[in-house]
Amino acid sequence: MKVLILGGTGDAVKLAAKLVSIPVEVITSLAGRTRKPLALEGNVRTGGFGGSEGLANYLKELKIDLLIDATHPCAGQISWNAAIACTNTKIPHLMLLRPEWQKVEGDRWIEVESVEVSAQVLPKLGQRVFITSGRQQLEPFFNLALTNPEIWFLIRCIDPPDLEIPNSKVILDRGAFSLEGERQLLKDYQIDVIVSKNSGGDATFAKIIAARELNIPIVMIKRPQMPVCEQVINVEEAIAWLKLHFAT
Ligand code: NAP
Repeated sequence: MKVLILGGTGDAVKLAAKLVSIPVEVITSLAGRTRKPLALEGNVRTGGFGGSEGLANYLKELKIDLLIDATHPCAGQISWNAAIACTNTKIPHLMLLRPEWQKVEGDRWIEVESVEVSAQVLPKLGQRVFITSGRQQLEPFFNLALTNPEIWFLIRCIDPPDLEIPNSKVILDRGAFSLEGERQLLKDYQIDVIVSKNSGGDATFAKIIAARELNIPIVMIKRPQMPVCEQVINVEEAIAWLKLHFAT
């Protein structure tokens, strides 16, 4: 059988490795945002498909038997495109969506709907901001920096951002991050507020614990709404689902 994984996450990397070992023919699709993506087993293709229609055509042309959407929980557009393309082509579709982080006692989360809103609430919360929401959507913080020169930004991302935010420092790094490291970083830079997406998973969770310990508020950007479809929460469940639905 032939599986198309929509990737861009650590889970997609692990899933591809597991599927290849079954063995199943795997193609992982990447949007092409990261300069040096993690090494992937199986075949890899890069770049957009051209909306749900382009994806549907690709699924038919490549004779894909199953699409597994293992994209980031905040990548809403591609997940909707996948759901529509699979419905229209009647190709089975599974979404690997790791659970959201849940707020617990001691967490000071300000939950917001978008990156834009996260930038709007920041001036009331602090002046030394740690941005961990990625390099793609920095424009709201750029605008904030222009109107609020008293705010200093620490920006952590995998690749250098295209936008240079005034009064900022960029750290290029890729998780997983340790609790000890996150604690130290928050102290070293005297961070008084963090911006995060509710990505879920373990790789970047240490900052949430460190913020709780140090009583630092987090502006938590909620996930976009996702299509209703068959879902699993981890790689093991995805493999079990595949074995149940497709005799290998
Ligand atoms: P998005 O808004 O959901 O998608 C925008 C467009 O990018 C899609 O319409 C599609 O273009 C293309 N695309 C996205 N993922 C693709 C994939 N795996 N393969 C081929 N094309 C893809 O996505 P995004 O938020 O820009 O994220 C882009 C990628 O980065 C995703 O694959 C995601 O897994 C990864 N990522 C995102 C975040 C995040 O916070 N959003 C964080 C970490 C990793 P066409 O319409 O032309 O097909």
